[in-house]
Amino acid sequence: MPFHDKDDFTVTRLDPVNWMLEHPIRWEGHDGDHVDIEAGFVTDFATVPWAVQWLIPRTGTWTLPATGHDKLCTLLNRRYGLVTLAYRNATKIAHDGGPCSSCWAQAQLSVPPCTFGPVDTDGAFRAMCEDECVDPIRRWLLWVGVRWGALKNPARRVGWWRTAHLVLPISAVVAAPIVGLLYVLVRGIVAVFGG
Ligand SMILES: [Zn+2]
Repeated sequence: MPFHDKDDFTVTRLDPVNWMLEHPIRWEGHDGDHVDIEAGFVTDFATVPWAVQWLIPRTGTWTLPATGHDKLCTLLNRRYGLVTLAYRNATKIAHDGGPCSSCWAQAQLSVPPCTFGPVDTDGAFRAMCEDECVDPIRRWLLWVGVRWGALKNPARRVGWWRTAHLVLPISAVVAAPIVGLLYVLVRGIVAVFGG
């Protein structure tokens, strides 16, 4: 029973994309770790690019996992904010605000790490999807999606290359038919309008 109290999963719509939890929810991991999502937490569920929403809508069996993932990302973002703040203060005092890698390392040490680091956060998302019986193909696609999202975010980018050997080939397999389809479309448009 990895998600506790999930029958209480009730949300209030704040705007077209944001929803607020009415009751707390807990996900119990397989190694004794857990994720607590408090009442009042705001989520946009799965942030899925429109081009693949036909395959993975914003909500589905992955809705609870997406909420749990959002929660873990919020914690990573918050920690990164604190590290950045500590770094700015240190380098302002020591180097007039100039860059300094040892100040950065020091700032990292000054803020306790999150229980789930960036790679673990996305791994937990995949485990949550498995718990919620998301089919393997969508589970891996969702994971690849959040891994690409992690690359864009400095709070989630650390350790990205450790999963690249999985992310890159899966992405290539997904992209191939899309690129092929676009090619055929563009050829068709050129044939019709290009004379
Ligand atoms: Zn320094």
